Amino acid sequence: MNFTTAEIPPANKTNATFAEIADVLRQHESFVVLSHVRPDGDALGSEIAMGLALQKMGKKVKVWNEEGLLEKFSFLPGGEIVSLPPSEPEDFDVVLALDTATRQRLGDNCLAAVGNAKTWINIDHHPSNPRYGDLVHIDPIAPATGQILFELLQSQDLPLDEPIAENLFTAISTDTGSFQYPNTTSRTFEIAADILRCGIQVGELSQKIYESYPRRRIELLRVLLDRMHFDADGKVASFSLPIATANELGVIPEDNEGLIDHLRAIQGVIIAIFFEELEDGKVRVSMRSKDERADVCEICLRFKGGGHKLAAGARVPGALDDVAKRVTAAAVETVKLLKG
Ligand code: 5GP
Ligand code: MN
Repeated sequence: MNFTTAEIPPANKTNATFAEIADVLRQHESFVVLSHVRPDGDALGSEIAMGLALQKMGKKVKVWNEEGLLEKFSFLPGGEIVSLPPSEPEDFDVVLALDTATRQRLGDNCLAAVGNAKTWINIDHHPSNPRYGDLVHIDPIAPATGQILFELLQSQDLPLDEPIAENLFTAISTDTGSFQYPNTTSRTFEIAADILRCGIQVGELSQKIYESYPRRRIELLRVLLDRMHFDADGKVASFSLPIATANELGVIPEDNEGLIDHLRAIQGVIIAIFFEELEDGKVRVSMRSKDERADVCEICLRFKGGGHKLAAGARVPGALDDVAKRVTAAAVETVKLLKG
């Protein structure tokens, strides 16, 4: 199907209330918590926070991710709760899918490892989420799934201690670009204040998130900046990473998250694009916009991806240069339609 964010089909179910979700959590015994492939701070922070809260409620809980716990998020308290999915399927009362725009993005191995489950709960903030699952709570205004989880835990008197708060802070801080993106609202700051009151040290935590990069990440940035390319009078900026270069530098996939921000930060750039050649013959496209009218989710939906208006992505089959050409052309077309 090909649709823009404005044309997303009407919701086939209304949002479950926090009380309804809390009832399901309280009434069941075994849970598995999942999130998207190539997890970011919101995905892992949300997964761990939910896993810890369920554990504190005395539940049996597994927390899986297709990539396991990334090295750069290994500082998250309770992070050891995250594991790779097992090879044999397991049965659960409840599956919780967090921060994941489509069921497919939970990952093939994770999906295969879920056997029978009575109830699927889908909690997310992606407007393009097709509302899969039995109990769905999508809040496209929330800047991070971690913010929705905070409201769920707080409003329903569910466990919310310091380790849970640190995970939720990491989720919200990373998905708002440290409270800079326009998705950051007064509510976000109120929640951040409540989270700080749980006892976390914001300076210490932010240093672990933002000032502990391995050197190879910066070596990668050097190479990418060398390959930087501008189109549409500097309104579209892009760079691409061939597999061979990634191998030469010894980088791992998690190293490149956030590097696209260097393109977005350039004066005059409206759309930034990062192309990463993958092993499976596809190209991972990562897109950012600085203008609500240049909806990158709409562009990525055309390439069977999705996301948000200002941050979206897709995995496009084809050769790196060819995909880069086609996707860049779509971005150029979008910025050329903008007036003023
Ligand atoms: P990133 O560029 O950081 O990988 O992703 C930006 C946003 O786009 C995230 O919210 C992510 O969920 C979404 N996104 C990235 N890649 C894909 C994709 O292949 N399919 C869909 N549906 N969403 C994606
Ligand atoms: Mn998110």
